[in-house]
Amino acid sequence: MTDAAQTALLNSLAAAGLPGDIIARRRWADCCSLKAGMGHVVILTPRNPAELAQSLSACRSIGVATATLGAGSNAVGSDDDDHAAVIIRLAKNGPFADITPLGDDRYRVGAAALLGPALTALARLGAGGFAGLSGIPGSIGGAAAMNAGANGQDFGQAVVAMEGFDRRDGTPQVLPCQPDAWSYRHSPRPDWLIVTSVTLSLQPVHPTAELARIHAERQRRQRVTPTGASAGSVFLNPTPELSAGKLIEGAGCKGWSRGPFAVSEQHANWIVNTSRQPGSAQDCRSLVDAIKKQVHAVHDLDLHTEWRFF
Ligand SMILES: Cc1cc2nc3c(=O)[nH]c(=O)nc-3n(C[C@H](O)[C@H](O)[C@H](O)COP(=O)(O)OP(=O)(O)OC[C@H]3O[C@@H](n4cnc5c(N)ncnc54)[C@H](O)[C@@H]3O)c2cc1C
Repeated sequence: MTDAAQTALLNSLAAAGLPGDIIARRRWADCCSLKAGMGHVVILTPRNPAELAQSLSACRSIGVATATLGAGSNAVGSDDDDHAAVIIRLAKNGPFADITPLGDDRYRVGAAALLGPALTALARLGAGGFAGLSGIPGSIGGAAAMNAGANGQDFGQAVVAMEGFDRRDGTPQVLPCQPDAWSYRHSPRPDWLIVTSVTLSLQPVHPTAELARIHAERQRRQRVTPTGASAGSVFLNPTPELSAGKLIEGAGCKGWSRGPFAVSEQHANWIVNTSRQPGSAQDCRSLVDAIKKQVHAVHDLDLHTEWRFF
């Protein structure tokens, strides 16, 4: 899609009746924590369920697909303006970030809320048990889509239901979640579900003690997180015992780079952008492919990315 075609798309969305201030065109690198992707994308930022339903209806009426982005902390953008989908990113201020007590230690948490601040807010309400996840960046929607995990805890362990909209026909949906439907970085969320909130089942906690656990976890993270912009771990660990970082280090990839992206010297399963300048998705993919090839050559093992490429 050329510049002109993207402008036409913006105009069509406005003509379909969407409020002008929820429609924008952005460079991908500015939407992803790694700052990867030199192309531009059309983004809709609905502020409430009615605007989300209206956005989906407008996209359907002009025949354009939708994809969802949370905080962009596990995402690599595209270099191509010719991107076939409109990105839906729920507004962080307003109902999509609300926390609602439901009784029986259950809470509905909006998908646009950030995971760490949401766990802090829940701790203040006397609910917790997941302090181990409190240093993971990103949104509640992203945590539900990725089954974000750390310190032996997975977000899915807390989720009893996901609420949202079916992107195909705009209908509201509630998806009850069984604990065994989640696994390492795997979520039962179907591709068509735009998550607008999750229902969490938490443990009663003493606020001061839970806030102290959250604080300690954030401090620990600060000590171990590699320097530079990143999108977290690049590859899935092949097994719980076999870490992708050790395999990559053993294959001699530490320090390899393409453009502003380099394999971190601190943690080989992290690609960092130490310049913090925008870089091309192609450089990023090329580095990922080179690592995969080298690990295959040295260890005869295939690595699979955790990142989402748009
Ligand atoms: C410094 C750093 C440390 C990290 N550490 C960890 C870690 O310890 N453990 C871990 O698991 N991850 C970690 N990550 C990765 C990342 O933070 C998580 O995967 C996070 O849950 C992604 O959330 P997000 O909102 O940024 O999602 P995005 O990156 O925006 O999107 C990721 C995927 O989720 C989908 N998605 C997002 N929101 C929605 C929604 N509302 N409805 C439907 N689909 C949605 C997107 O379509 C995409 O497929 C780290 C990242 C960074 C930068």
